Amino acid sequence: MPESVERPEAVEDPRRRIPRTDLLLAHPQVARASATMSDLVVRDIVRAAQARARAGEIAPEQVLDDVRAAIGDRPSSSLRPVLNATGVIVHTNLGRAPLSAAAREAVLDAAGYTDVEFDLATGARARRGAGARAALLAACPEAEDALVVNNGAAALVLATTALAGTADVVISRGELIEIGAGFRLPDLIASAGARIHEVGTTNRTHLADYTEALGERTGCVLRIHTSNYRIIGFTSEVGIAELAEPCRAAGVPLLADLGSGLLAPDVHLPEEPDAASALRDGADLVIASGDKLLGGPQAGILLGRADVIARLARHPLARAVRADKLALAALEATLTGTAPPVIDSLHADPDQLHQRTARVAERLGGRLIPHDGRVGGGGGAEVPLPGWAVALEAELAAPLRTGDLAVVATVRDGDCLLDLRTVPPEQDDRLVAAVDSARAVLAAPGEPDRR
Ligand SMILES: *Cc1c(COP(=O)(O)O)cnc(C)c1O
Repeated sequence: MPESVERPEAVEDPRRRIPRTDLLLAHPQVARASATMSDLVVRDIVRAAQARARAGEIAPEQVLDDVRAAIGDRPSSSLRPVLNATGVIVHTNLGRAPLSAAAREAVLDAAGYTDVEFDLATGARARRGAGARAALLAACPEAEDALVVNNGAAALVLATTALAGTADVVISRGELIEIGAGFRLPDLIASAGARIHEVGTTNRTHLADYTEALGERTGCVLRIHTSNYRIIGFTSEVGIAELAEPCRAAGVPLLADLGSGLLAPDVHLPEEPDAASALRDGADLVIASGDKLLGGPQAGILLGRADVIARLARHPLARAVRADKLALAALEATLTGTAPPVIDSLHADPDQLHQRTARVAERLGGRLIPHDGRVGGGGGAEVPLPGWAVALEAELAAPLRTGDLAVVATVRDGDCLLDLRTVPPEQDDRLVAAVDSARAVLAAPGEPDRR
């Protein structure tokens, strides 16, 4: 058809052709979206498409397609999956421990109504999270009882508050640590009313420093594992085993904040404390995180003497810091299932890691270089985990982060490094595809993708 001559309606304001809100909302596909999205979100999507048409960014005829695309693409949350190619296993910025397949399944199962505080056999109310408690006690038989709370910090505040109240918490000056983002453990403890009684010095604390501090005002003695730094040189610290007897004699509970969640010793991390050893050495209570080396969900794990756990469970603060059903489900599954990804990454077979990395390097035309992985925020401070990385062009880091599959790499000395220790082996193909896409973005003329 030849180009039509200009007719009066062709000069009509095209904005009048923008579909009305009620008609768009009534479209079957848009109406169906309301089953999984809130009405407010759907309306916002509709309004945004209309606004784009009004601004001339799209034609009025494209409004419906625009709405459909927005509905189709919309993830249910803004949290995006990330491929962690940093080699840092417990990466705080990337959500710490990735859950095991069993734990993911357990979270889904527990997402609806679930018997978290109910006995289906009798129809009566039951102890909350009994399954997670049983799994913890099975994994750490040295503990008489266990309690799970929101996170390690909550466990520490609950323990010191329930055991010391406004009395003294005796801590070595070498253990007054900041755990990140400006949060300091002594401030955390003091925030609930307890008084910090510092003993010893930054580098050296002796048994006499503790025993001289024990008195009327002592609520508990706390040993904190300095999980994110190490003091070397002229140092001395007092072990749990040495402290246990004087604490028992004084009738003062001995707490150990282990930081990481090792329940038993790990050959790869000989310096990392574990719950079983600390309890055997005489700690009355140990505290650990669920999402560090245990490889589970965010949780604070308290293990120890039955009477001490009972005091904590009865304290009003226990209700304010209790674990949710999803965390309880994931924790139990982590403990009873096969090794979680954190442990797989920690124990990655050096030969297999080398083979995988060499293969990916070849596919991508990158260099294979030695690279140390790290435990990360979870513990094992300064312990290198010898491995390998693929070295690529440094410019790839940004498009890799912003691609459809977000990949987080390390940029060092002009290289973009991919450490496969923290990438599940079945994701190698997607990693290669992501690098191909990132290269395509860099090669494309014009503005780089700024999503
Ligand atoms: C990480 C850590 C905490 C805090 O645990 P979260 O689970 O992160 O709240 C407390 N103490 C120590 C020694 C830690 O390393």
